[in-house]
Amino acid sequence: MLTNPLTKNITGKNIAADIASYLANDGYAGWRKALTMEPNNIVTLVKDGGLRGRGGAGFNTGLKWSFVPHGEDAPKQKFIVCNADEMEPGTFKDRLLMERDPHLLLEGMAIAAYAIGASIGYIFIRGEYHLAAERLELAINEAKSQGLLGINILDSGFSLDIFIHRSAGNYICGEETALLNALEGRRAIPRAKPPFPQVSGLWGKPTVVNNVETFCNIPHLVALGIDWYRGLGLEQDAGSKIFGVSGKVKNPGAWELPMGTPIREIIEQHAGGMRDGLRLKGFLPGGGSTDFLGPDHLDLPMDYDVIGKAGSRMGTGTIIVLDDKTCPVGLVLNLSQFFARESCGWCTPCRDGLPWIVKVLQRIEDGEGLPEDLDLLREQCQRIGPGKTFCALAPGAAEPLQSALKLFEQDFIDHITNRCCPYK
Ligand code: NAD
Repeated sequence: MLTNPLTKNITGKNIAADIASYLANDGYAGWRKALTMEPNNIVTLVKDGGLRGRGGAGFNTGLKWSFVPHGEDAPKQKFIVCNADEMEPGTFKDRLLMERDPHLLLEGMAIAAYAIGASIGYIFIRGEYHLAAERLELAINEAKSQGLLGINILDSGFSLDIFIHRSAGNYICGEETALLNALEGRRAIPRAKPPFPQVSGLWGKPTVVNNVETFCNIPHLVALGIDWYRGLGLEQDAGSKIFGVSGKVKNPGAWELPMGTPIREIIEQHAGGMRDGLRLKGFLPGGGSTDFLGPDHLDLPMDYDVIGKAGSRMGTGTIIVLDDKTCPVGLVLNLSQFFARESCGWCTPCRDGLPWIVKVLQRIEDGEGLPEDLDLLREQCQRIGPGKTFCALAPGAAEPLQSALKLFEQDFIDHITNRCCPYK
């Protein structure tokens, strides 16, 4: 039974599957099957398969597709968009997929386009991902030459063109509506939701935006079916996932594992555990914009709802490990500097609130913090929390900080009372 649908073609370093080897390994079987199905049935299959968005939010993918209007009165032009603007700190899973198996992404996008009735697709790719963009460009041309993309695909009457758009480089471009603005040539600021893009997206037309890894799940889900797909997961969530670990572990990297794999297995077995002489102090389970969890949480499964109930988010599933010799204040300061720099400036709490947090954290790290700074930071996290800003950037930025203030409070206090960073 196939257990690694996302990485089965990824062998050796720097090898990208060309179309011949992709086809030889059942490539485009899902696409061929999809073209024999009713589009609505594909939407239902993906919904019932339980695939949840791998960009970080975990929204049911088929449910998202089902919001696209169809029928006589629906707009004729629809779009499929791949969010490949992978900029979440600590996250590098989509780059691996695009560089090493670009056809898997194209196949997933083609099936999604057919399911929702889109004839044009865009891959909005992070500007720094040069190799991935080149390999995708090549793969698009290969797929076209085999009649798998382009006009009247495999004599089905369905046509699809996919274009690559290289991002000018800004974290906010990964927010789906800011991404659509950027694609339209506008300033990359988020739009108010609703309306969601599925109803009014690119140039006001119905648009589905999905993450790279999400699309890569589709071909095998369609080819091998719901029971197989659900059976891949160990807990409630279906399928497999590319989990990653960065930080001072022996073997940082990324591995395709079942959804629900225990965190301890990912860190201790796959990442080889902590480097000699270091202890795990805490970790961010899903990239830089998630809440810290501590060693007590190591036996939790990487499952969206379980990690949510534990007080964090599974996010992108790429774990950032904090060891006992790295300063947690410095780590949170570093993340906050990133988020402050990347704020699009559209709403005040984010534009002004994040630099303020950086200023306070910097003075604590420099040994110039005041006892009242901790309450100031807690208050500030509330002010930029969910519902207070236009999009999820600032609330995401608050997550590592608010949890560090709880889990590593003594470290903050030591900085202030000793008037220096104890880790230096
Ligand atoms: P969100 O929960 O608002 O939306 C997720 C998706 O579900 C969107 O496509 C949205 O259109 C859809 N959706 C949600 N509610 C809906 C509704 N009621 N009706 C119709 N569609 C609905 O999250 P978001 O703001 O899009 O994304 C935030 C996430 O992005 C965070 O979890 C963060 O971890 C992640 N993130 C990832 C990266 C990366 O590089 N992969 C970068 C930044 C942030």
